[in-house]
Amino acid sequence: MKTSIATVSLSGDLVEKLDAISKADFDAIEIFEQDFIGSSLSPADTRQLVADYGLEIALFQPFRDFEGLPAGKLRDRAFSRAKYKFELMQELGTDLILICSSTHAEALGGIDRAADDFAALGEIAKSFDVRVGFEALAWGRYISDHRDAWEVVRRASHDHIGLILDSYHTLIRHIDTHSICSIPSDKIFFVQLADAPAIDMDYLYLSRHFRNMPGEGDLPVGRFMDAVYQTGYSGTISLEIFNDQFRRTKSELVAKDGYRSLLYLVDSIAARKADHNMPSLPQPVQISDVGYIEFAVEAETLPMMVKTFGQLGFAVMGRHKSKHVIWLQQGQVNLLLNADANSHASETGFTTAMMVSEIGLNVEDAQAALERAVGLGAIDQGSQQASETDILPRIEGIGSSLIAFTDSKMNIWQRDFEAEASSSQAEGGDTPDIVTRIDHIAQTMRYDEMLSWSLFYTAIFDMQKSPLVDVIDPDGVIKSQILQTPDTNVQFTLNGSDALHTRATSFVTENPGATVQHIAFATDDAVLAATALLARHIDILPQTENYYADLQARFGLTDTFLAKLQARNIMYDEDDAGAFLQFYYQPEKSGMFFEFVERQNGYGGFGAANAPYRLAAQRRQSSQT
Ligand code: MG
Ligand code: MG
Repeated sequence: MKTSIATVSLSGDLVEKLDAISKADFDAIEIFEQDFIGSSLSPADTRQLVADYGLEIALFQPFRDFEGLPAGKLRDRAFSRAKYKFELMQELGTDLILICSSTHAEALGGIDRAADDFAALGEIAKSFDVRVGFEALAWGRYISDHRDAWEVVRRASHDHIGLILDSYHTLIRHIDTHSICSIPSDKIFFVQLADAPAIDMDYLYLSRHFRNMPGEGDLPVGRFMDAVYQTGYSGTISLEIFNDQFRRTKSELVAKDGYRSLLYLVDSIAARKADHNMPSLPQPVQISDVGYIEFAVEAETLPMMVKTFGQLGFAVMGRHKSKHVIWLQQGQVNLLLNADANSHASETGFTTAMMVSEIGLNVEDAQAALERAVGLGAIDQGSQQASETDILPRIEGIGSSLIAFTDSKMNIWQRDFEAEASSSQAEGGDTPDIVTRIDHIAQTMRYDEMLSWSLFYTAIFDMQKSPLVDVIDPDGVIKSQILQTPDTNVQFTLNGSDALHTRATSFVTENPGATVQHIAFATDDAVLAATALLARHIDILPQTENYYADLQARFGLTDTFLAKLQARNIMYDEDDAGAFLQFYYQPEKSGMFFEFVERQNGYGGFGAANAPYRLAAQRRQSSQT
């Protein structure tokens, strides 16, 4: 299959769009009439420009309100408009036009009337040596279903008239995709792909503003594409995305994401086996757990950080053989404090005292993981490996951070680290671990980057995403999305905000390159953990009297239990399965903070109900200091 993207999907002028599209590796474009009319280039120059970028124009669109018009002036006008466009198409060097089903107030219904119009148009198209594809708009006046559009095409029975399928129009109306399988592949002239979020909204408004890349939304685009493959169709698949966010995002990023989404979509479809034009990738990467989290720290603050993590129960396990890196451990959690002046983090200008610079993920096969990630457009960072004791497959993650892959074949702890002689600097060395494992990693970004990173994770890894939810910050709204492995062993929460003064926005602007805003450690007993930390003079984020009064009203907790929570500033939530205890700690001079969570009986959430109060508490705390 050839890959294509509609110019309307991207921001910028035609040259900027073509540049981005060709860099992202697409074969072709759909030229949106408006992009051509708005450009000062002649049709011939446009044709040359497209060719110069190594692209072709696979489709000219849109042509609206053609079929079903009453005989006379209106109908004649529609035919002469079509002739004008056919001529233009010849000059542009494209042979296919999209006609979408009519929404004209004076159009008349009737499958045969529409079929007759297309049969007549087919003759004209033949004389211009162009082809016409008919697409059912979900909001078409009479034709709003691809099955009816196909019936029109079938009855028109003309070689120059075919069908255009668009996943958005089919899926948003919940039309059974099996109906595609009975359409002969040579009558499918073109296939357009778009996804959309599960928002109950007028089809037209949703389509014009909120479409997104396959895999970024909630529609079963894979099922649609599977049906298309089953017909034997081997023409062009093209992204046609109208999205307000994309129109203000850099075209290069959107084009790259688009290409990634197509590869990911095609890769996920079993019926595609015959399609040798699309590369095949290793299986989606199964992450078993987070191997380590590396922080970039300044050399002067390193001793203070070791002390702080010691108070949290982490012991120094070893030192890196070739870099200024200290390895800390508690339970199954490994942390690295990297004060190496040559590290990627210091090159990219992390500014605060402590930032996450790398996340190590334990996978089955680190090389295969790298291969899939790079195959899906991730940037290979292997070249910046400093020495033999630092050989890990790495890719660029969000912001300036890296993702490294480790597997059981490489025992990095023995290979790269010198064990610390007296292995414990953790306070309260004999008490049980406060922290057992990493529960989740919260990453913050600009809202317009969220879709991109959510696609990045779900395409490369075997991870599922939750729908977006709104979290209310005292200074605006934060959008939040959860990404997790099927066994929930590895969980990321993505948070994005556009509002000027939310905590998420200031984190991103004040810490360029940083994205991990907090790390949530799992604990077996939050009350014990909080007690131990308070004894070590760790300040837990204070909650209000009102919060605890409301907790009691909501959950009917006993006075004793409530007093335990309140004395330790532990927040509480419940879902159908169980209960959730969580509390927060922010080290001094750090942009990021730590969360401690206890999940009882399989509680599956993240305490979303508490998030507004946590944010309000953090705002009070930072206005005091
Ligand atoms: Mg379309
Ligand atoms: Mg959290």
